[in-house]
Amino acid sequence: MKAQPIYLDYNATTPVAPEVAEAMQPFLHEAFGNPSSSHAYGHVARDAVMQARQRVADLIGASPSEVFFTGCATEANNLALLGVARALGRSKRHLVISAVEHPAVMAPAKYLAQEGWDLSVVPVDEYGLVSPFDIAEALRPDTALVSVMCANNEVGSIEPIAEIAAITRRKSVLLHTDAAQAAGKIPLDIAALGVDLLTLAGHKFYAPKGIGALYVRAGTPIRSVLHGAEQEHELRPGTENVPAIVGFGVAAQLARDRLAQAQHHSKQLRDLLHQRLRESIPGLMLNGHPEHRLPNTLHVSFPAVSGRELLSEVGSILAASVGSACHSELDTVSGVLAAMGFGPARAAGAVRLSVGWMTTHAQVEAAAAALANAWQRLRRGKSETASA
Ligand code: PLP
Repeated sequence: MKAQPIYLDYNATTPVAPEVAEAMQPFLHEAFGNPSSSHAYGHVARDAVMQARQRVADLIGASPSEVFFTGCATEANNLALLGVARALGRSKRHLVISAVEHPAVMAPAKYLAQEGWDLSVVPVDEYGLVSPFDIAEALRPDTALVSVMCANNEVGSIEPIAEIAAITRRKSVLLHTDAAQAAGKIPLDIAALGVDLLTLAGHKFYAPKGIGALYVRAGTPIRSVLHGAEQEHELRPGTENVPAIVGFGVAAQLARDRLAQAQHHSKQLRDLLHQRLRESIPGLMLNGHPEHRLPNTLHVSFPAVSGRELLSEVGSILAASVGSACHSELDTVSGVLAAMGFGPARAAGAVRLSVGWMTTHAQVEAAAAALANAWQRLRRGKSETASA
């Protein structure tokens, strides 16, 4: 079999951890019951969902009754924004988001704007960071919700959520954070963050795709956007995806147990990758905050080449991405980099390299060498074309 390219795209998705896959198996076979059934099969499934809910709650320091399973982070974000809007829309019609939100927040916010809500999009600095002061400035008496992501999926910058929460709390405004990229990479504690709603995505931390959750602080006004039966306290009706929920629970436990080790491993390899690239590529630029950044994420701009060209040149050796996986087919400047004030050249040369649990030292050395060689080849090609 042909060797697989080195995978440095853990922010796009992660493989399912063996422990997670193993725990899911019985729920695809003999323990296939519907958690709503009142017979033995139902009880087994219900108990498994309950245990997973506890594990996910433990990952963020929440109570299990505040965790609602969804089909993905996109759904959790939609539920947060549209659900709060439904609950508060009679008296409040203003929403605040940051300029670097994932489309899974940006799009429902724009949808609400089309429905007549006022939408304030707060700018970021050159590192992709939102200023709590700007959030305070944007608040109005009719602001229902502020949504600022915990960590950015492209450049990895970690937003000052606790500081923002101190402001929204004082003004009795709800705060949502999309923590899809943060979970498993940095500590997440509801009490320390002070948020009212928080989004999680299983496939970003070694659970399968197609499972997510929304944390909703007890007492938060929110209404379902789906109409159906009574699952998830009627906030997310539909028969639970039991195998995926079980896997999500185990992944949450692993994320908690391994956090310190994973942070150390990621940071070491990420920094080694950065060092190797810096040694061989003069003019390489780091994007995102140098310190307030996910330990696994290296977002850099290569000078004088396009990130897309570069990744295509190393495609048989390395899998990484320009921008985020969800919209990497488009050849436009990433909205995140545009919001950070990058010009077309720096944005075009950008590549996101994200490491994970399975990344090795040897892979990082090989990936750095492949990128450096490809960059030199492309540069040579360009100067030959120019002088011809
Ligand atoms: N939010 C963030 C910050 C993400 O990075 C992603 C996926 O890349 C999502 C939301 C959407 O996740 P999903 O596609 O699983 O719904």
